[in-house]
Amino acid sequence: MERYTRQLKILSDEGQRKLKNSTVLIVGVGGLGSASSVYLAYSGIGKLLVVDKDKIEKSNLNRQILYKEEDVGKYKAIIAAERLREINKEIHVEPFVIDVNDENFEEIIKRADVVVDGLDNWKARLRVNKLAVRYLKPFVHAAVEEWYGQLFTVIPKKGPCLNCIFGETEETKKEIQVVPPLPGILGTMQAIEVIKIITGIGKVASDRIIYIDSKNLSIHEIQVTKDPNCKICSH
Ligand SMILES: [Zn+2]
Repeated sequence: MERYTRQLKILSDEGQRKLKNSTVLIVGVGGLGSASSVYLAYSGIGKLLVVDKDKIEKSNLNRQILYKEEDVGKYKAIIAAERLREINKEIHVEPFVIDVNDENFEEIIKRADVVVDGLDNWKARLRVNKLAVRYLKPFVHAAVEEWYGQLFTVIPKKGPCLNCIFGETEETKKEIQVVPPLPGILGTMQAIEVIKIITGIGKVASDRIIYIDSKNLSIHEIQVTKDPNCKICSH
């Protein structure tokens, strides 16, 4: 517990135990997933499941803080797991080099208490959203592009799902531009949402979307409600 001295007064011993006994699935360890997984490891989440099918590319090295130059060409999930174990030897980390469409993925999501969105495309996000709703797993979404980021937490049964709000979202182009620290901001906010969900402290963004405009440094929120006709969460 000494390691967590500087957080125990706000999270409580019981809250810290809840983190230790939790399993968090991070889907995609790019810019967002690097930041969220690093802080979840430091915070003392007992088990991290890390999913990513891709290999590290040189163009990832401007913002994906888990990786170093010598990692180029290696699998992200494998290197991420190594780095996260170096950060905190008391936690358990399992890497999976798979796609969210793999049959295996459904088994992995069933094991998680909370799911974190580190993806870069809507097709994959909506697939994870569907499974998160099916298995009643809280799903912490974030997305970034250029100077802008958004965050929203799906609490199945209680609030809207990603499909209610973003079901019609058009796919962004591949290889989007992003200012390097921005995925760090959104990823760390996702980690805070995870801690709040697990400990039951505070209020998650499940009834509103948080938008960050880092170019003009403004943050605003938009209230959202369930779509009564949502084909994923309303039946
Ligand atoms: Zn829905």
